[in-house]
Amino acid sequence: MKIFKVVLFWVASCTWGILMTLFGALVALALLISGHKPKTFHYFIYFEVGVGWGGFEAGPFFIVNKDAGLTLKQHESGHGLQNIILGPLMPFTVSIPSAVRYWYREIVVRTGMKEASDLPPYDSIWFEGWATQLGKKHFD
Ligand SMILES: [Zn+2]
Repeated sequence: MKIFKVVLFWVASCTWGILMTLFGALVALALLISGHKPKTFHYFIYFEVGVGWGGFEAGPFFIVNKDAGLTLKQHESGHGLQNIILGPLMPFTVSIPSAVRYWYREIVVRTGMKEASDLPPYDSIWFEGWATQLGKKHFD
């Protein structure tokens, strides 16, 4: 029952998960206005922007770098499932900590304080490992 899952996902995203969905909708709107073409991946609407930086997810929307591989799209979609599980807790338990950790890692490497190889694996923190696991399980 694929259509049932799609409807359930969007209903949950627009109710329990509305905080991140509203934020994602604003970002999506800004990208549409600036001429970016939306694409779909399973239940998700996503955009490709920039080169080689990764991605981020906001409700049923995600943004990834150009030519993103399946693994990255699955990971961002995994965060989308976390959003319908965690609902209003999502920004505080996953999205904000994930963004802070991402930038901390970028800055530490770019300023030469550490080598990328000295950092713990990206998925070693619970919310990233869980997103990867959910994405692989549900969106192959
Ligand atoms: Zn992530």
